[in-house]
Amino acid sequence: MRRIPSFGAPSALPNRPESFLSATATKPKLTIRMCEPRGFCAGVDRAIQIVVLALKKYGAPVYVRHEIVHNRYVVEGLRSKGAVFVEELDSVPDDGQPVVFSAHGVPKSVPAAAEARELLYLDATCPLVSKVHKQAMRHTRLGRHVLLIGHRGHPEVIGTMGQLPEGSVTLIETEDDAAAYVPVDPAALGFVTQTTLSVDDTAGIVAALQARFPDMRAPSSESICYATTNRQDAVKAAAPGADLFLIVGAPNSSNSRRLVEVAERSGAMQGALVEGPQDLPWDCVKPGGVVAMSAGASAPEILVDAIVDSFRDRYDVTIELVRTAEENENFPVMRSLRQTPLTPVDMAFVNGQG
Ligand code: SF4
Repeated sequence: MRRIPSFGAPSALPNRPESFLSATATKPKLTIRMCEPRGFCAGVDRAIQIVVLALKKYGAPVYVRHEIVHNRYVVEGLRSKGAVFVEELDSVPDDGQPVVFSAHGVPKSVPAAAEARELLYLDATCPLVSKVHKQAMRHTRLGRHVLLIGHRGHPEVIGTMGQLPEGSVTLIETEDDAAAYVPVDPAALGFVTQTTLSVDDTAGIVAALQARFPDMRAPSSESICYATTNRQDAVKAAAPGADLFLIVGAPNSSNSRRLVEVAERSGAMQGALVEGPQDLPWDCVKPGGVVAMSAGASAPEILVDAIVDSFRDRYDVTIELVRTAEENENFPVMRSLRQTPLTPVDMAFVNGQG
C-alpha cells in the first residue's frame, strides 16, 4: 500500500464489515466506478511545477501568495520542500527570494505592488484564467459593462474583477441576481464567467440574462475551462446507479464542490467531498454496491490511490473505468524556469512513484 502523510486522525473502524474482522473470511465485493478524466488539470500541474522549479533554482524559501491551488495536501507538500505561504505581499520580506502568484490569478494591483518593491515574482496564473481576464478587458475596451458570473470571494473572481476599472464590473452569482440586475445601458453589456462553475447552472444564469438583455455580448470563447467541463461530463456519465459518489478535493475548491452537486443531480444516491482516506464515510458504503469516484482539478492522484487502497483493505474491489474524454493539454512554465530540470522524483509527492 502506498503510504501518504495523514492530516487527521485515521478514521475509527466501528463500521467495518464483520467479515473484515475475521482474517479468514471473504471480503464483500465492491465496484468502484472511476471517472476519467479526473484530478489535476494542466493549469494546476503548471502552478505546482512553478513552485517546485523555483525552489530548485533559487533555493528556499520561495514565497507563495495564497494557496497555490486549493488543496491542503499539495500545500503541505510544498511547504515541506521550503515554500512559505502568505496571504498578502506585505508578508513577503525583501530578502531577494521569489514570490509566486497562485493559479487562480491576481488583481493587477498585485504585480504592480511587487514591481514597486522590486520583488522577483513568478505569476502561476493559469493561462485559461488569463484568457478570461483578456475577454473581460476586451468588453471594457469596447465600452461594455462587464457582468462576471461567479462566486463572491473566490480568489479567481477577485483576480478577474481586479483587472477592470472600479465600477465597470458587476458580480452575478445566481439567477435571482440576473433577474434583479439593473444596468445603466442594457445595450452595452458583456459577460464572462469564472472558469470552474457548474456548466448547467451557468447556462441557466446566462439564459436569464440573455432573456432580459438580448444585446449582451458573450466572450469570444467559453470561459468555463476544458478541465471543468470534462470532469463534470465524466461525473454525469458515472453517476446513474451509484450508491455513493466520492469526489476527492478540498472544501474550498470550487470545481470539486461543483462535482459533488453534479453527481447528486445526475443520479448518484449520495455525494461526498473527501480530502483523503481519513474522511471516507464508511457508513454510506454498501457491500456489493457501487461507489463512483472522481477528483477535482486540484486533487492529486496520490490521494485517489490511497482511497482505493483503503477500500481494498475492506472489500474485494473491482474497478470500472468511465472515460468520457482524453486530455492532452500541457501548459509550459515560464521561460525563466525552463532550463531547470523537473524530474518525476520532484513531483512524486503528488503523482506517486509511478
Ligand atoms: Fe486552469 Fe481550468 Fe485548471 Fe482552473 S481548472 S487551473 S482554469 S485548467
